[in-house]
Amino acid sequence: MAKSNAYRGLSTTAIHAGEGPDPVTGASAPNIVMSSTYVAEEVSGFSAHELSVDSPFLYGRWANPSVRSLENKIAALEGTESCLCLASGMAAASAIFFTVLSAGYHAVISDVSYAGVAELARDTLPRFGIEVTLVDMTDIAAVEAAIRPNTKLIHTESPANPIMRLTDLAAISEIARRAGAKHSCDATFASPVGQKSADLGVDYVMHSITKYIGGHGDAIGGAVCGRAEDINALTVEAAIHHGGILSPFNAWLIARGMATLPLRMRGHQEGAMAVAQFLESHPKITQVFYPGLESHPQHELAKRQMRNFSGMLSFQVGDEETGTALAARMADELQVIHYAVSLGHHRSLVWWMPTAGIMETSFRLSGDQLKSYRDYAGDGIFRLSVGLEDAEDLIADLDRVLG
Ligand SMILES: *Cc1c(COP(=O)(O)O)cnc(C)c1O
Repeated sequence: MAKSNAYRGLSTTAIHAGEGPDPVTGASAPNIVMSSTYVAEEVSGFSAHELSVDSPFLYGRWANPSVRSLENKIAALEGTESCLCLASGMAAASAIFFTVLSAGYHAVISDVSYAGVAELARDTLPRFGIEVTLVDMTDIAAVEAAIRPNTKLIHTESPANPIMRLTDLAAISEIARRAGAKHSCDATFASPVGQKSADLGVDYVMHSITKYIGGHGDAIGGAVCGRAEDINALTVEAAIHHGGILSPFNAWLIARGMATLPLRMRGHQEGAMAVAQFLESHPKITQVFYPGLESHPQHELAKRQMRNFSGMLSFQVGDEETGTALAARMADELQVIHYAVSLGHHRSLVWWMPTAGIMETSFRLSGDQLKSYRDYAGDGIFRLSVGLEDAEDLIADLDRVLG
């Protein structure tokens, strides 16, 4: 395995960390190990509680060399001791929630998040006797006020789907530390290149590796990075007992994609900036939110907290009817950008999210929380994941449907 103290740069890390020439064949590129079981050299126990990080490979649900290689690569880039990969981003979120939380515990969770996480927090956690308070994470006083003696977890998402609202991660980490709670952050939109979440005090850095880390729209997976002790507990609970493991084939594909993550993030940022500036100057666009734009209400925080603004942006065109009509035209007439969910791929993807609809199905906010959401989203937003195509082609495609 390449020596991780032999390099410091993000690109070298993304390419070499977690892998090395095959000791038997000398192959430069990693093999995929598909074996579900391993021939043991000595008689040992068969309980997750006997697991240690350097246990030999035993069974594929415990650990797998191809998955381990990806985990080491992600941990190296994220700058954490350890990483656990799972079958999806949602499996990663569930792993955190169902390992850290138990019946009678309380969690403070961002009132705006990926819809699946929002629904898990609102519908599933309470079913297991876990109390949940949903808080606008930009309101630090509200986060502090939400803390209770039994608060064990604060879960943030930055930038937050779909509105590109940021959370001051260092400030939230400080509140969590004082409360004796863990801070988990869904950093999917930023990727490990976009922000050093662990350096900002985040205990569990979560990613849907389906998005930027894999980067090519062909493999679903999730990851949680953090201290070895915490990730070990997560492995026992979420991988070995709940069983939502990543397939070795997906791990291999995602590791292959991840090698170019720093290079791709530079391309995403450059393209997103060009597209954001075009949209901002277009008469039919009423609002654009991109952390890299000076007009983003949290641009100062973005500059302090992020080292790459990523390729995610959102924009508005006016009321819901105007947005719905444009979405229909996009689905029909876009020639380069795909009208599709998901994000972080080399292909550009756009999706329309009317505020009334998403409030009903997922977020269910009212009062100040709804107002803060609407400050970013109005009656609805288009979420655009700017891919790696030439910006001029993306701009021409958008210009054509905007009319
Ligand atoms: C996609 C996504 C998820 C869920 O990930 P899957 O891999 O689709 O399960 C969670 N959080 C964010 C921010 C996402 O974009």
